[in-house]
Amino acid sequence: MDSYETRQRYWGRSLIGWPVMRNAAPNPSHHHISDLELLNHSSLVVTQNVDRLHQKAGTRAVTDLHGRADEVICMSCDYRCPRDEVHDRCADLNPGFQHYKAETAPDGDADLEVDFSDFRPAGCPKCDGILKPDVVFFGDYVPRTGCIRRWMCSRPAMACW
Ligand SMILES: [Zn+2]
Repeated sequence: MDSYETRQRYWGRSLIGWPVMRNAAPNPSHHHISDLELLNHSSLVVTQNVDRLHQKAGTRAVTDLHGRADEVICMSCDYRCPRDEVHDRCADLNPGFQHYKAETAPDGDADLEVDFSDFRPAGCPKCDGILKPDVVFFGDYVPRTGCIRRWMCSRPAMACW
């Protein structure tokens, strides 16, 4: 995300991919895992998924090991907001990108190959810093937030990846 060109491409493709991910519904497995929590057969779900489908299914105790795609953070300050706000700002800044259609991926990306050089990514409204989804990208480290310790100390727990 340090590269402006990378951000143009990421947020440009996200204009198409994010609504699909945002509107995804939990499948029967997510609901089954939620039922296990209700029956006290699971006290914590640890997941690498960033889609929040466990929470949508009703599971309350979830550690999102790789973050959550529905929130955006600033890489320079403590700004955080719902991804929909950044999505709407990017849409407003780039009306020419609204008409594109492409295959979407489960991670909010879209298979869109166009010229992104005119795309204007939204910046942090607080400090004009770089915004990114609150997820662990490939090559990033999982933040040390105590989630692993909670996971190891909690029984029964369920890991979903
Ligand atoms: Zn900021």
